[in-house]
Amino acid sequence: MNPSWVPILCYHRVCPESDFGKFRSLCVTPQKFRAQMRLLKNLGYTALSLQNIAAYLKLQKNIPSKSVAVTFDDGYLDNYTHAFPVLKEFGITANIFLVTDLIGKTNVWDFPVGAIHESPLLTEDQIKEMRDAGVVFGSHTANHIDVTQSDPDNVKEELDRSRDRLEELTWRKDIAFCYPYGRLDSGIKRGVREAGYVCGLATDSGPLNQEADLFELRRVQVFPSTSLFGFWKKIQPWYPNWAEFQKRFKKS
Ligand SMILES: [Zn+2]
Repeated sequence: MNPSWVPILCYHRVCPESDFGKFRSLCVTPQKFRAQMRLLKNLGYTALSLQNIAAYLKLQKNIPSKSVAVTFDDGYLDNYTHAFPVLKEFGITANIFLVTDLIGKTNVWDFPVGAIHESPLLTEDQIKEMRDAGVVFGSHTANHIDVTQSDPDNVKEELDRSRDRLEELTWRKDIAFCYPYGRLDSGIKRGVREAGYVCGLATDSGPLNQEADLFELRRVQVFPSTSLFGFWKKIQPWYPNWAEFQKRFKKS
């Protein structure tokens, strides 16, 4: 068992299947999401903020067993309408990574304004209401840029502006960061650290021992097809090693 592994669950949208649109793999229905959160509660899990997790990892203190983190990328409006009521019902702390220049707008990095599949993002009022109820907000850059493909000056500007906006919105100085598209490299990780973020969330990269790199924290993806048993597996301490083994086995 790995003592410094905490399952950091990665979600994007929570919406009915009729609203899944083009990126189906990023959606989970409200029914499935509720069943998953209820399971966490029934099994006695505690949902932590990324700031908590970063502090444990930094101090090399064992994270209590049955800890979990629930994260959402992009800050879709449905996080408010469909996920927030469930989070409140079960008293679960969530971490939502906002695209700070696009608050109250739509996912223009995927679709032009007015496109059939565009999805609205959280408004400032919704963010404040969720913040007051204990939801933690982090940065997903200012414009959802691919930080590995952008001019370094632009990356720095995006990191700084997004951090400033979040400090103002959340009244806190310890902001977590999440790499858009899961793309990162060592220079970008350094830039995120130097911009004052407390940690950086990857998707399926990063060491299996999360203590080894706070700026490439591996997460566990939850898909629309994930069964409740599949979800249970994803929160087990042996899951990352098992998933890596499966991946290698499939390749050979
Ligand atoms: Zn994203």
